[in-house]
Amino acid sequence: MSRKKLIAANWKMYKDPAQTKEFFHGFLPMVAKHDRDEIVVCPPYIDLHAAIELVKGSKVAVGAQNVYWKTEGAFTGEISPTMLVAVGCTHVIIGHSERRQYFGETDDTVNLKLKAALEHGLTPIVCVGEVLEEREAGLTEDVLRRQCMRAFSTLSARKAAKLVVAYEPVWAIGTGKTATPEMASDAHVLIRGEAAKAFGDDFGAGLRILYGGSVKPENAKALMSQEEIDGALVGGASLDPKSFAAIVKY
Ligand code: PEP
Repeated sequence: MSRKKLIAANWKMYKDPAQTKEFFHGFLPMVAKHDRDEIVVCPPYIDLHAAIELVKGSKVAVGAQNVYWKTEGAFTGEISPTMLVAVGCTHVIIGHSERRQYFGETDDTVNLKLKAALEHGLTPIVCVGEVLEEREAGLTEDVLRRQCMRAFSTLSARKAAKLVVAYEPVWAIGTGKTATPEMASDAHVLIRGEAAKAFGDDFGAGLRILYGGSVKPENAKALMSQEEIDGALVGGASLDPKSFAAIVKY
C-alpha cells in the first residue's frame, strides 16, 4: 500500500513569533514546488497564529506540540483541541517523550488526548519509543506493545482514521545517535502489527509511521528509503530552514 510520507518539524521550546516569521520567509520558497511529501511544522503555542498566517497559500500545515483533552474549563495553562482548530491547526503531537519524561504524561493521558484530538478532526502524531535501559534490557518490543495498546484503547478504526504514529527511540532524541534504518524498520513492523490488531489489517497497512531521533540532512535519505518508514519527526534539525528543507527533499 502506498503511504504518502509526512515530514514533521517539532520546534520544542524554541523560537518566538519574530523568529517564526524569519524561518518561514526562508523555508517556504525552498519547498514551494515540493509535492512528494506532506510537510507539517509544530511550533510553540505562542507562534501558532503567526505560523498559520505565514503558511497560507502554501502546502505546509501547522500543528501543535500538545493538547488537553477537555474542550474548556478551569484548567489553567492548558489548550483545548477546539482552540487548536479555531486558530487553524490541523495536526498535534501527542505523548512526546519529553512530555512523558518531564511533565508526567502517561499512556492513559496519551489515550485521552488522542481520542480528543481525533474527535475534533485533528491529525494526531502519537509518539512511542523505548528508553536506553529498556532497549539494553531487551524490553523494546514489550514497551512499544504496551504504549500502542494503551494509546489505541477504546478507539475504533473509523474514529482513528487520521492516526499517525512516530517511533522515537528516546536514546536517539537530541543525542546525535540514530537508530539504524533496520532497527527503525523492525520497530515500525511491530507498531504496524499492533495497529492491525487494534483496528484491522487494512488499517495497519495504511498507517503512517514516522521515525524520529536525530534525523538530519545527512541520514534522512537512508532512513526514508526504508519501505516501513513513512516520514520523519524532526527536532533540532528542523529549526534551521535550510536544514529542514534538505530533510524534506532527502
Ligand atoms: C523530537 O523532538 O521529536 C526529535 C526527534 O528530536 P531530534 O531530532 O532533535 O532528535
